[in-house]
Amino acid sequence: MKVKILSIVIPCYNEENSILDLVKKVLGSPVENKEIIVVDDCSKDNTRAILEKDVKPLVSQIVYHDVNKGKGAALRTGFAHATGDAVIVQDADLEYDPNEYPLVVEKIFNGEAEVVYGSRYLNQKRKGYLANRVANWFLTTLSNLFTGEKLTDMETCYKCFKREVIQSIDLKEDRFGFEPEVTAKIAKKGIRIKEVPISYYPRTNEEGKKIGFKDGLRAIYCILKYR
Ligand code: UDP
Ligand code: MG
Repeated sequence: MKVKILSIVIPCYNEENSILDLVKKVLGSPVENKEIIVVDDCSKDNTRAILEKDVKPLVSQIVYHDVNKGKGAALRTGFAHATGDAVIVQDADLEYDPNEYPLVVEKIFNGEAEVVYGSRYLNQKRKGYLANRVANWFLTTLSNLFTGEKLTDMETCYKCFKREVIQSIDLKEDRFGFEPEVTAKIAKKGIRIKEVPISYYPRTNEEGKKIGFKDGLRAIYCILKYR
């Protein structure tokens, strides 16, 4: 049987505190064949120097944006460069655990699913700050209403796709609207998204989290726009 390859796409903006540790964790994750693609979304802190000096020898590719565009735009760039059998999104912080890739990618590698989300809330409670949990619950419920999916965590970072599937979707959202947009467009293709439980180690805004209240409003707009 052909050995399967996982492409890991890392959108990265001002992540000088975590990017090197994160890439090392990704390298050590228990997936035999991986392709790591970092997209630097025009970082203004020390990230670029770290990428050039320490990260470059460890990864397959680093792609640089000339202007800061947002997570969605960085992912579009990364997806276009992916060549593996499956593609997973990996934020450049340490909120998710790369050791859990096998849980998420297994069903895609063995042909049981085309899209799998790692859920922070499936079969478990109290993951993350209350306000974020409530917002995620609300956005997931609203998204389900329009997509017909039965997700517990639409906003999760760990979204894994068969490569052909993600590369066939025309994505428009530059920022965090990516999450509801991609979910709606996958549902429109008639694909049932599978979920598996994953761990979550949330960071605060002070620790570098960039998503905010406005992004929540944009998510509502995107759920309606792409329904
Ligand atoms: N990010 C990016 N461009 C931006 C803002 C964020 O590439 O303009 C990246 C960021 O570095 C991180 C990911 O997108 O790897 C998600 O950002 P964050 O952790 O702040 O959001 P959340 O975890 O809440 O989705
Ligand atoms: Mg994050």
